[in-house]
Order: sequence, then C-alpha cells, then structure tokens
Amino acid sequence: MILLDGRQTSSKIKEEIAATVSKMKQHNQRVPHLAAVLVGMDGASMTYVGAKVKACELVGFESTLIKLPEDTSEQALLKQIDILNNNHEIDGYIVQLPLPKHIDEQKILMAIDPNKDVDGFHPTNVGKLTLDLPTFISATPYGIMELLERYDISTSGKHVVVIGRSHIVGRPMSILMSQKRKAGNATVTIAHSRTENLAAITKQADIVIAALGIPEFLTAEMVKDNAVIIDVGITRVPDNIKKKGYRIAGDVDFESVSKKASHITPVPGGVGPMTIAMLLKNTLQAREGFGDAH
Ligand code: NAD
Repeated sequence: MILLDGRQTSSKIKEEIAATVSKMKQHNQRVPHLAAVLVGMDGASMTYVGAKVKACELVGFESTLIKLPEDTSEQALLKQIDILNNNHEIDGYIVQLPLPKHIDEQKILMAIDPNKDVDGFHPTNVGKLTLDLPTFISATPYGIMELLERYDISTSGKHVVVIGRSHIVGRPMSILMSQKRKAGNATVTIAHSRTENLAAITKQADIVIAALGIPEFLTAEMVKDNAVIIDVGITRVPDNIKKKGYRIAGDVDFESVSKKASHITPVPGGVGPMTIAMLLKNTLQAREGFGDAH
C-alpha cells in the first residue's frame, strides 16, 4: 500500500510557487495578493482562514484578512465585495463559508468578480470548468487531481466512484475525472444519499473518492483489492483522550481499507493540505491571468 502524502506533495507545490514568486520579486514585479473575508467567529472557519493566510506568507504572497462581525448585514458584505472587486492590488479573494444564516450565500458568491474568484465557486467558473475551459478549479477537487497526477495514478478507462454530489467537492470531481485530461478519461459514477446498493457499486470501483462527511463510512467490505482510495472527509469526532476534546476523522475506515488499497490518502495529511496549496496556485494564476481564453 502506498500512502498518498498530501503534506509532502503540498510542500513541494508550495516550494514551486515560492520559486515563481521569488523570480517575480527579482524582476520587480508585484507579487500575488490574496484576500480572505471572514464573517463571524466560527472556530473551524477561523482555523481554515488562519492556515490560508499563513500559507500565503510562506510562499511570499501578500495577504489581507478582513474580519467582519457576525451581525454584518448582507448589504455591508456586498459593499465589501464591491471594494475587493475594484481593488487592483488584490488578485484574488475568498469569502469563507459558511456565512451566518441571515446572509444569502448564493447572492454573495454571485457578486464576486469571476476573475478574482480563486475558490472557483462562481457560476461562470463552474460553467467554464464544465466546458473544459481554463478557469479556477475549486481547490479541493483541484488538489485531488494534482495528487493523482503527481503519484502517476492511472485513471484512463478506469471506473471511478465519487460518493457525494456537493457543488464544492463531489460534483466538480465527477466532471473533472470524466474529462480528457491527465488524471481524467475515467468512467465516472456519482453516488449520493439516495443511491441504492452503494457497496455493490463501490466494490466495482478502481478508484473511490469519498466525500460525504460521515466518519469511517467506507469499510473494507465495500472496496475491491488494490483500489485507489481518496478520503475527502473531515469531521470532528468527540474524543476525550485528545487535548482539544475531539479528533479529526475521514470518511474512510483507514484501518481496514488500507489493508486492501493500492494507494490511500490519510486523514489528516491527505486531501486537506492539498486544498490550501491549490488555493495558492489559483491565486498565482489570478496574478498571471489565463490569457485570451479567460
Ligand atoms: P455536503 O454535506 O455538502 O455533501 C455530502 C454529500 O454526501 C451529499 O451530496 C450527499 O448526497 C452525500 N451523502 C450523504 N450521505 C450519504 C450516504 N449515506 N451515502 C452516499 N452519499 C451520501 O459535504 P461536502 O461539503 O461535499 O463535504 C464532504 C466532506 O468533505 C465533509 O466531511 C467535509 O468536511 C469534507 N471537506 C473536506 C475538504 C478538504 O479540504 N479536505 C474540503 C471540503 C469538504
């Protein structure tokens, strides 16, 4: 069994980005600048945003963190977005989700300039992704594609089963892997909460991508020998032994599945670190532009 090491791979990607930034500096060019908007004090969101800002510093990007109070109105947030859209010093920005309930998430995502939408959530960018045009690919699916590519996992003609149909992971993942691209050309099945006989389907998969958010859901009985297993899940499970009172669990029962898999991502240390690296890659892309196609 080979561990698909997201920590190591993401470090390599960050080194590559840092080298590009350092060249930009040598040529007196402006370095990429990422902004992040955080509304409220949600613990997990604060951790994620903090990690993104730290990663920017590590590769030599400029970063700006805009913290807004929980009771920020939708109007005030839209105003902030307008400011970011018109700030030429900022190449890309993200609005950390989830937003407080009184704010219409879709309305906010629609207001982001697609050319600065480094999360790749704007319908324009999702549409471009679907049509296989150059665009910002949302960071988690992008990270999984990169991991598969860098580990030379053969995907052409293989049966991939994606569990989960969310807009940020499952759906784009299924589209990407069916496209004509490296780590693509696969035959894709997308499973979800209404899927019947899931185990019979996953058992046929050469590659399983588990993105449903149910800890240790995928067990050894559900996979065939030598399958490639990608675990996207991140769930905080109460655990009194841990100092924080919880542990991070993936969607795969690593203990049993790793004995059958040819390749598997650990949690933590698999898909998670790749997500941040790809956000940086998108920001670099925002700085450099997509050329005429964008
Ligand atoms: P989501 O809740 O939006 O979607 C879950 C999907 O799983 C749904 O489409 C649903 O139909 C499907 N599902 C639920 N129960 C199922 C079942 N019993 N059988 C089959 N399908 C079922 O979740 P999401 O935002 O896509 O995230 C999924 C998981 O990935 C979560 O644990 C989340 O924390 C994690 N995540 C990790 C990263 C990362 O960087 N590693 C990024 C995003 C999300």
